[in-house]
Amino acid sequence: MRVIPLHLDDPSDYSCVCYWVLGENNTATDRNTLIDTGSSHPDNLAYFLREMARLPKGIGKRSVEQVVLTHGHFDHVGGLEGLDRQFGPDTYAWLPAGRRHRPIRDRLPLRVGDQDGLLLHTPGHSEDSVCLFLPESGTLFSGDTLYRITDHLGAYPKAYVATLERLAGLEVRTIYPGHGHPIADHAGAFIRTCLDNVHQSLIQD
Ligand SMILES: [Zn+2]
Repeated sequence: MRVIPLHLDDPSDYSCVCYWVLGENNTATDRNTLIDTGSSHPDNLAYFLREMARLPKGIGKRSVEQVVLTHGHFDHVGGLEGLDRQFGPDTYAWLPAGRRHRPIRDRLPLRVGDQDGLLLHTPGHSEDSVCLFLPESGTLFSGDTLYRITDHLGAYPKAYVATLERLAGLEVRTIYPGHGHPIADHAGAFIRTCLDNVHQSLIQD
């Protein structure tokens, strides 16, 4: 599996890091996948197409056969319209999105690149948040669900605590978050530390 982070550094635009996932050998059964689509800023689409032109995608295959939206905030879904027009991908999202929407239910199996993944409903950051987990490689695409929590000063909804407990129970080796850099060292410990700090913070209904 190859994971290519796509993020245009533009201080005038707030856009998530998107991840383009391809199989290792471009075989016919690979599913070329884009996790999130960034903001609607017009430069984003041109940048994506430029980056995608650099790599082989498999003969006769579209660069983006499917999109996974981690949640519906503008910095993650704004680019969908342009990508939809360009590639007509199946769009997996908790809430309706795109021309070929595929509704997500918790634990929906999904082939991503050359691995079998699971879509997990992980409410907390937003009600419609999902994470994509690939058990074979321990890869977690976490959207905005995970971020570094280092103190006990915040307040968290119960649903978020349950989500962190669930993610802490997975064998995670690499986290690809919606903002910032991938976490490849001690990814499981990262989640457990966040959870410990949340447990000692204010929990709300
Ligand atoms: Zn975001």
